[in-house]
Amino acid sequence: AKQAGKQCYVFYSQDMATQDASRLEKEQILREACEKKQFILHFQPQISMHTGRVTSVEALVRWQHSEKAIVYPGEFISHIEKLGLIVDFGNWVLQTVCEQIAQWRASGLPYLQVAVNISPLHFQDASLPGTVRDLLMKTNIPAQYLELEVTESAMQTKGHVEIFNQLRQLGVKIAIDDFGTGYSCLASLKKLPLDCIKIDKTFIDDVLTSSHTALLVGAIISLANALNYKLVAEGVETRDQALAMRELGCQIIQGYFFCHPVPSDQISALLDVDFTH
Ligand code: C2E
Ligand code: CA
Ligand code: CA
Ligand code: CA
Repeated sequence: AKQAGKQCYVFYSQDMATQDASRLEKEQILREACEKKQFILHFQPQISMHTGRVTSVEALVRWQHSEKAIVYPGEFISHIEKLGLIVDFGNWVLQTVCEQIAQWRASGLPYLQVAVNISPLHFQDASLPGTVRDLLMKTNIPAQYLELEVTESAMQTKGHVEIFNQLRQLGVKIAIDDFGTGYSCLASLKKLPLDCIKIDKTFIDDVLTSSHTALLVGAIISLANALNYKLVAEGVETRDQALAMRELGCQIIQGYFFCHPVPSDQISALLDVDFTH
């Protein structure tokens, strides 16, 4: 064992030691962030092309690392998953969203639907439906105002069918996120009744420059309409993209062109805005 240890030491360069230390340090910082709940949610409006108004919002987490530093989820969600903290983290997000929906309502606003991103690892946790049921009861909000966004890979996890059905029985909505980027889009549509498809930003990026992509987008929109699913286009950044998507029949648009994600206290003012004027 000693020898093996020695051998290891040979290969364990100073560089790797430093890297390891900083990785451990990062882990520790992230664990603390989870314990101390150093996270906040921002909300990005989804705009109806019929009315020009906000129909719903997506909750997007930010790590408030210090007074000034905000860290975006692309930097830390996968680490939270690796650390085995994603169920606790996701439950905190769900609880915060339910409380926020109740708070907006209590302040005199109409009920607002909020979409929440659920990690595929969380989506295979058998206690998820029970947690959601308890939160809905505790905050007293109607289930249809909670929409869970899962990617196609979450639709392939073990036990997901049971969990999916239990969640839908509660009346919670389910959306497929990043639609079109997975390997089994049609398979996931065939197996389980969904409520919403979020067509991935990569399609929107090319919709003006590639007639092939525009045809695909049109076909996805027809599919969504035929199946009676809500369809949201995400990552719409320009006026021309918004116009093209509307032309193709897309009824709900989310993206920087209309609005960036904002803190909860800015939502009330946005509900009065007609974004198509
Ligand atoms: P996503 O679910 O695909 O969310 C859309 C991302 O695109 C968000 O990035 C949003 O801020 C950004 N976005 C919105 N409109 C535009 C646009 O017009 N142009 C561009 N370039 N980007 C746009 P964000 O907030 O950094 O989140 C990144 C990802 O992190 C999300 O991708 C989602 O997968 C994950 N995430 C965010 N919040 C949560 C959470 O609470 N739980 C979990 N498990 N994952 C989360
Ligand atoms: Ca999402
Ligand atoms: Ca997405
Ligand atoms: Ca994405």
